[in-house]
Amino acid sequence: MKYALIIPDGCADEPQEALGGRTPLAAARTPAMDAIAVQGRVGLSRNVPSHLPPGSDVATLSLLGYDPASHYTGRAPLEAAAQGIELGPQDWAIRCNLVTIENQVMRDFTAGHISSGEAAALMRAAALELVGDLPLEFRPGVSYRNLVIYRGHRQPAPFGPDTQTTPPHDLTDGSVVDDYPRGSGCQLLHDLMGRSGSVFAGHPVNAARRAAGQLPATHLWLWGLGGSPRLETFQHRYGLRGAMITAVDLLRGLAALLGWQRIEVPGATGYTDTDYAAKGRYAVQALDSTDLICVHIEAPDEAAHEGDLAAKIESLEQIDHHVVGPLWQALRDRGDYRILVSPDHPTPLRTKTHSREPVPFVMAGQGIPPDAETRYDESSASRTEWCFQEGWKLMRFFLDS
Ligand SMILES: [Zn+2]
Repeated sequence: MKYALIIPDGCADEPQEALGGRTPLAAARTPAMDAIAVQGRVGLSRNVPSHLPPGSDVATLSLLGYDPASHYTGRAPLEAAAQGIELGPQDWAIRCNLVTIENQVMRDFTAGHISSGEAAALMRAAALELVGDLPLEFRPGVSYRNLVIYRGHRQPAPFGPDTQTTPPHDLTDGSVVDDYPRGSGCQLLHDLMGRSGSVFAGHPVNAARRAAGQLPATHLWLWGLGGSPRLETFQHRYGLRGAMITAVDLLRGLAALLGWQRIEVPGATGYTDTDYAAKGRYAVQALDSTDLICVHIEAPDEAAHEGDLAAKIESLEQIDHHVVGPLWQALRDRGDYRILVSPDHPTPLRTKTHSREPVPFVMAGQGIPPDAETRYDESSASRTEWCFQEGWKLMRFFLDS
């Protein structure tokens, strides 16, 4: 038996007036997902427990079959795992966005999708000016997504379970003044964020960006911190080998911690310009070397963060045509299979940020009896009244039922 999981990140949404009351998923032309619905079942799963933030990290942990209530320590430790950064038991990883803040308003949580080269230069400047005697490492990543590591074995970390931070993508176009870190260690985080403003103000990278009409990276925004997570491997827990295709470090990190193979696809960008067809081709090839292939596509989430309805629909149609369709065909050609399509969480266009509502999924394959629904969308999924209130139990059903 071969298994495939396709994650159109953040694709679930609300009815849109511009679409005559349909959601983007309902309005998009998705013949492959709908055909899977005809042959299989649709339902809902709640991937975000009420006490945790509705991040992709929490929601994807659920979707991959791990209870976030017992396994989640924070987003940054997963991204550190993706970069091969080892965390000791006393270390903390802190997500470090490069952002554009103007007049105390979060103008852009990506600093204009700053390039990785520019980001690395700014991270070096920040490290030089801000580290001092602190046990901190500034680790550049991809574009605006960088990390700071606090080495707690050198000096005990001041953070704790009560340390609270706000994801900058939740603040888009809003005031930041009430959303600086709170709780244990907040003073250190606040201080680093504040001082980064003076480090970056006169930096040549920003001068060049302003001259080119691009947004400057005005500050660091620190959030999503956590200690080292401990996860049982997927093979140990579910008895299957897994592989992940994604362009997002968070998902790479989860894959690393689960003991999955990570497959890098040329042209995969984590944005709406990603090479969908290449992701589909690599996923089909991966069926030779793994039991379960997971393909994560960030584009619908990014489109929703930008409030771009047309781009969200377009990304869903691309995913259907280039990833779901070819992968499903390849699975059927090979023999016994199961296929599951589900976003991690909704990202409503109205709010431009994640929500914690249950998401629609569709699954088909050997041993999955069909229901009466013939479309994969939010309304068909809720009509069936089949809902996993603990979303992490969906994986066990998908694999074993
Ligand atoms: Zn997500």
